[in-house]
Amino acid sequence: MDIEVNTVGIDLGTTYSCVGVWKNDRIEIISNEQGNRTTPSYVSFTDTEILVGEVAKNQVATNPYNTVFDAHRLIGRNFYDSDFQNDMKYWPFRVIENNGKPYVRARYKGEKKDFSPEEITSLILLKMKDIAEDFLGTSVRDVVITVPTYFNRFQRKAIEDAGLIAGLHVLQTINSPSAAAIAYGLDRRIVGLRHVLVFDLGGGTCSVSLLAIEEGILEEIAVAGNIHLGGEDFDNRLVNHFVQEFKRKFNRDLTSNIRALCRLREQCERAKRILSASSQAFIEIDSLFENIDFHTSITRTRFEELNQDLFQSIIEPIDRVLRDSDIYKSNVDEIVLIGGSTRIPKIQRMISEFFNGKELSRSINSDEAAAYGAAVRAFHLTGNFSEKIQDLCLIEVSSLSLGIETLNGDMLPFIKRNTSMPTKKIKNISTDFNNQSSISIQVYEGNNTRSIENNFLGEFELTGIRPAPKGVPQIAVTFDIDLNGKLKVSAVDKTTGRMNEITIIGGLLKGEIERMITETEKYREDREEVMQKAQARNALESYTYDLRNVIQYIENLKNELESVAQDSITWLDENQESGKEEYEFKLNSLEEIANPILKKLYGNYSDFFNGT
Ligand code: AMP
Repeated sequence: MDIEVNTVGIDLGTTYSCVGVWKNDRIEIISNEQGNRTTPSYVSFTDTEILVGEVAKNQVATNPYNTVFDAHRLIGRNFYDSDFQNDMKYWPFRVIENNGKPYVRARYKGEKKDFSPEEITSLILLKMKDIAEDFLGTSVRDVVITVPTYFNRFQRKAIEDAGLIAGLHVLQTINSPSAAAIAYGLDRRIVGLRHVLVFDLGGGTCSVSLLAIEEGILEEIAVAGNIHLGGEDFDNRLVNHFVQEFKRKFNRDLTSNIRALCRLREQCERAKRILSASSQAFIEIDSLFENIDFHTSITRTRFEELNQDLFQSIIEPIDRVLRDSDIYKSNVDEIVLIGGSTRIPKIQRMISEFFNGKELSRSINSDEAAAYGAAVRAFHLTGNFSEKIQDLCLIEVSSLSLGIETLNGDMLPFIKRNTSMPTKKIKNISTDFNNQSSISIQVYEGNNTRSIENNFLGEFELTGIRPAPKGVPQIAVTFDIDLNGKLKVSAVDKTTGRMNEITIIGGLLKGEIERMITETEKYREDREEVMQKAQARNALESYTYDLRNVIQYIENLKNELESVAQDSITWLDENQESGKEEYEFKLNSLEEIANPILKKLYGNYSDFFNGT
C-alpha cells in the first residue's frame, strides 16, 4: 500500500515553533502531545536521551549546561562576530569554535559531544515532523520553513541542511512575515490592491515585510529586519535589573550561579508576559542564591523604561521598508502584527503612533499565522489544488544586497536589496593596474557599504587577461538569481571570451550532512529505546499495583465472609434448640450474603460444597 506523504509548513522560531498542514481543504495547526499549538525550540541532552520541546524547556534550571535554546542565534553565524560573542554571555550552555563556526558542547549519555547549530535545529524540526506525523498518521517529507527576513544565504542554507538532517525535503524557506501575509490574504479574499505591512517580533528576531496584495497575488515590495532583536533581549534587561537589585539588597552577586540565573530568567519571562496584561508583576523565588528568598516586583512603566532603546529600535526596520519602497505611511492600508512580543502594549502603541494613530489589525492569530501561511505555501508548491488558493502567487525580494568587493574594500552592489527574484544584473568592470593579467571576483552579501561588514559568499579568479593599461579590459560580470533563489556569478573577458563562474551554495559538506543524518538516526533510536523501556516499566508497574489492589480486595471479601461465618457460629452456639423454620431461615440469610461474595472470589464455587 502506498504511504500518503503530506507536506507541512513549519514556523521555526527562536523560542517557539509551530506546524500546520492543509487538510480537508483548510489549514490545521497541529497540537503537540501536551495539547499546545506551539512548541518551545529547546533541546536538552541527558544521560539517557535527547529531549525536545516542553520537556526540554523544563530542564533549563535543573540541567542548564546541557539545555540548548536560541539555535536561530547560532545558525550560520561566525563565532568571532562581536554580536555573537555578546550573545554567548547569556547562554548557560557551552559554545566552542569549530572552523570559525559556533558548536554547542554538551554532555550526552555521559560523554562530551559537540553539536553543530544545524544538528540542534534538525532536532527541533524532527520534533515538529513527529508532531505532524502523529496527527496525520502518515509520513511527512516536504516542508516550507519560515525564516527571519534578514537571514542571509548561508543562514537559509543552514536551515535547509537542518531539514535534510531531519529527513525533510525543504521546498522553500520563506520570510515569516510573508508567510503570515498569505494567511492574512487567504482569510480575507482581498479585492483591489492593498498595501499590507506585516511586523513580526518573536523571541530573537524582528522581521518586517511590506506587501502589495491583490486577489491571490502577494508581492513583497520591501523587507527589513533585525536578526538580533526580540523577546529574549527584553528578558535579559529584566535579568540584569534584578541581578543589580539583588546585589543592592543582599550584597551578593548571583551571576556566579548559573542555576540561580536560569531560575531568575524563567521568572523574568513570566513577569514580562504578565506585564502585557497588568501594570505590575511579582517575582517570588524561594532560596534563589545562598538560601536567600527573592521576593520583589516590577511595574510596567519600569519594564518599558528598561527597554526603551530596544523598543525604539523596532521603528527602524519599519521606517526602512517604507523608505525603500517609496510608499508613504498613509498609503499603508493594513498593519498586521505577529510574533509573541507584539503583545507588549508599548510596542503596539509605538507602531500605531508611528502610523499616526492608525488602528492595528488584530484579526490574525499572532502565534500561528506564519505556520498557517507556510503550510498553504507547501501545499501549493507540491502542485496540490484547491479553489481557495488557485491564484496564489508570491513574489519575493532579496533582503540583502549582493555585490563584489572593489579595490578599496567597498562593496559594489549588483543586485540591490529588495529586488524581485528571479533577477539578472550585468555590470562591466575593469583592471586596477596596468598589464593586470587576472582579476579576483569576491562575492559579498549585505547592506553595508564596506564589504568586510557583509557576508562573504565566495570568490573566483578570471585569468588570461591580455596586457593593457588599467581600466581598458572589459570584463562583464553577471549576477543571476534563478527561480529557486540560487545565485550564480560569472565573469567574461569581452576581448578573449574567457570566462569563469561560481555558484554560491554554502552550507555543510555532503559528507558532514550524511554523518549528521546517521547520528540523528541514532539519537532517534536512543529515544525509541528509552521510550520502550519506559513503556515496559510502566506496564510492569501498573500490573504490580493492580495486583496489590486485587489482593487487598480479596482480603476485604474474605474478611467479610469470615465475619458472617463467625456470626453464624455464635448464633448456633447460643441457639441450640431453635425450630426447623428458624434454622432454615438462618441458612437462607447466610447463603444470600455469602454466595455473591464466593461467586466474586471463586466463580463456580459450588464445587467446594460438593466435596470436590
Ligand atoms: P514567538 O517566537 O513568536 O512565539 O515569540 C516568542 C516570544 O514572545 C518570547 O520571547 C516570549 O517571551 C514572547 N511573548 C509571548 N507572549 C508574550 C506576552 N504576552 N507579552 C510579552 N511577550 C510575550
